[in-house]
This record gives sequence, structure tokens and C-alpha cells, in this order.
Amino acid sequence: MMRRVYLDNNATTPVLPEVLEAMRPYFGEQFGNASSIHHHGQETRAAVERARESVAALLRCRASEVVFTSGGTEADNLAVFGLARSGDHVITSTIEHHAVLNACKHLGKYRDECRETTGCEVTYLPVDGRGLVDPADVKRAVRSNTKLITIMFANNETGVLQPVAEIGKIAAEADIYFHTDAVQAAGKVPIDVNQIGCDLLTISGHKFHGPQGVGALYVRKGTQLEPLLYGGSHERSRRAGTENVPGIVGLGKAAELASSGFERGDDLQHRRMAAARDRLERELLKIEATGLNGEGAPRVPNTTSIYFDGIDGEALLIALDLKGLAVSTGAACSSGAIEPSHVLIAMGLPPERAKASIRFSLAKQNTEEDVDFALSLIPEVLTRLRQLSPVYRPVGSK
Ligand code: PLP
Repeated sequence: MMRRVYLDNNATTPVLPEVLEAMRPYFGEQFGNASSIHHHGQETRAAVERARESVAALLRCRASEVVFTSGGTEADNLAVFGLARSGDHVITSTIEHHAVLNACKHLGKYRDECRETTGCEVTYLPVDGRGLVDPADVKRAVRSNTKLITIMFANNETGVLQPVAEIGKIAAEADIYFHTDAVQAAGKVPIDVNQIGCDLLTISGHKFHGPQGVGALYVRKGTQLEPLLYGGSHERSRRAGTENVPGIVGLGKAAELASSGFERGDDLQHRRMAAARDRLERELLKIEATGLNGEGAPRVPNTTSIYFDGIDGEALLIALDLKGLAVSTGAACSSGAIEPSHVLIAMGLPPERAKASIRFSLAKQNTEEDVDFALSLIPEVLTRLRQLSPVYRPVGSK
């Protein structure tokens, strides 16, 4: 059988065995609707509430401030559409995930109750060459009608960590709601909603070894949020619909495992992963005509985005996949798209360099042998592609 190594953990992570075990009973004997009053409902209600406590511990908030959703996309949409109304101004950045970016684009078309297209105004803040939003730009963008600032915690393509605590301070001083998409931060760096000073924060189970299709939105107590869905009074009327009990239990277990690693501060697997990422990066950057996207910025410990001049990233991805190595050209949802990454373009990369970029994202299950495998393939495949490239000129050649 062909050896396969998975270095695309920012797209999704494998569910940990402990998470699967925690979920298993809720597909079988513990099947009750968490809203039912009888024994079966009480059992699943208790499981949902335990999971809520675990997520709250991960985010350092109250359990009552956690709203379960169908994933990161829904949580981001709930934050944006739950707060912004016609006539409001919203501040975001050009490097957000499409779950925020396209929600904000839609806000521009938002119709009020009289069906007038008054819309919301949205400011898209730029980033510098390292992929960082400047808090001074956030401050300058604030207007009297600014309702919401939504800036991500960690970027999915580069892993660059944004100065969210500084932005939180600016939002608090101006009395504006602050939402941060922490989908790519959860499980990778500690999160504390009070330290960040955010009113809303998004996480998604499948990015830190929980199941796909479940996430959560932290909603600070007192935040007036309009629901996206109308129905029953689930999730304190913030998200109608029968709870996805197995998913929520899995998310809770994944949160518990992530928190315990950070609390002990000695998560060996986590440190090993960071060291493996660093070695992979160091070795790849020794290859000529390569460079790191996000160099000089603080980053999560699992991600590295590297450009390989003269090649097409998608061609490299496919060639590596044929040899058993799974990587990405950027956001999972944009794979197949011909457009270069909006994140890398926003960082000032020329389109050819953005298209020549590959994202490697590790997780705890990855080993040094996985990195050896990647390093045994990439230089050879790259040389072959560069030989075929009509544009690539080896360094030093005329
Ligand atoms: N936000 C970020 C930063 C992401 O990376 C993703 C997924 O790629 C999402 C939001 C969407 O999360 P989900 O896949 O749970 O809808």
C-alpha cells in the first residue's frame, strides 16, 4: 500500500480516538432529544451541558455564553448578521476567511424591513507584507455608526496571528462590538476571551480534532444578538434547532483535550509538532527561489506557507498527492479555483508568486518521519516541475 502523509490539518483534522469514543454512545443507546423532559432527554441534555462547560473552559468564558452551531461558517454568520443592521458600519480585513468576508459583502446588500436597499457600509482594512492588520488602521476606521469590528485571530493560509488584544481595547474604548474568528487558533494557542476583550468569538470542531459540522460562538453576556434561524427556543433562543448531540459531545471532548494540554504547559505532542513544522520550514527554505509567506509575524505553531517561484502551486499539489503527500494551495474551499489566494494578494504578493504558494499544516499526529517523507519528495518534484516551467530561470543563470 502507498504511504500517505497528511499535512493539510488547517483544512480539517482527524478525529482523535478519545473524541470518537466520547461520541459513540450518542449514536446508539443515548439517542434522546436534549429538549425532552423524560430520562432519555435528561441524559443527552446533561451531555450537552457538560460539553458547554468544556468549551467554556477552553475559551475562559461562562458556559451560558457558549452557543453551539453547525460549524465555523454559521458562527461567523451569526456574529455578523446577528449584530449589523441597515445603516450600520462594519470594520473587517481583506484577509478574513470567506465565512466572514462573504457575509460582510452580503451586508452591503442588506435590505431593511421596508425593503429599501439602504445597506451596511463595510470597511475592509489592508494588511502589511507580513499579513498583519495595523491596530492604528482599525482606530482610524471607526465612525460614529460603527457597530461591529470583525478581525480574525489566526489566518488559515499563513497562520499569522493578528493583534486581537490591541483591537479589543480599541473596540472597548469606542463601545463597539468585537468579533474574532478563532477557528484556526483554537487548539493551537491558548484563548482567553477576556484577555482578547472580544464580545464574540468563533470556533469549529473539525479544526482541532473534533467532528465536522459542529462549532460554537462565544457571545458575551448582555450582547443583543438577532438569531439567524427561527424555530424553538434552543440555545437560549440564539440558535433554533434540535442540538447535534454527538457532534456537540465530540466538540466538548476535543475542547477538553486541547485545554488540558495548555494547562499542563507540557504538551509534548504539541511541542513536537511545532519543532517538526520548524524543521520542515527551515529545510524547504534552503531550496532556491523559495520564501516564507508571513515572515516576521507571530504565527500559530503548525502552519507554514511557502512560495516556490516558477511553478504552479496546484501542479505541485497534484504531483505530491500522486506520491502520497497531502498539502494545500490555501483555503480548502478555494481549491479548484483558478484565482490566486486573496490573502496572499492582500499581503502584496504578485499573482504568480501567490499561485506558486503551498500551505503545509501539521497536527499532533504528525511525526518527524512525516517531515522526512515530505522532504524526500518535494525537492525532486519541484526540480521536475521547474525544468518543465516556461518561466523559471535557475538562480545565477542568464
Ligand atoms: N474561519 C476560518 C478561519 C476557517 O479556516 C474556516 C474553515 O476553513 C472557517 C471559518 C469555516 O469553518 P467551518 O468549516 O466549520 O464552517
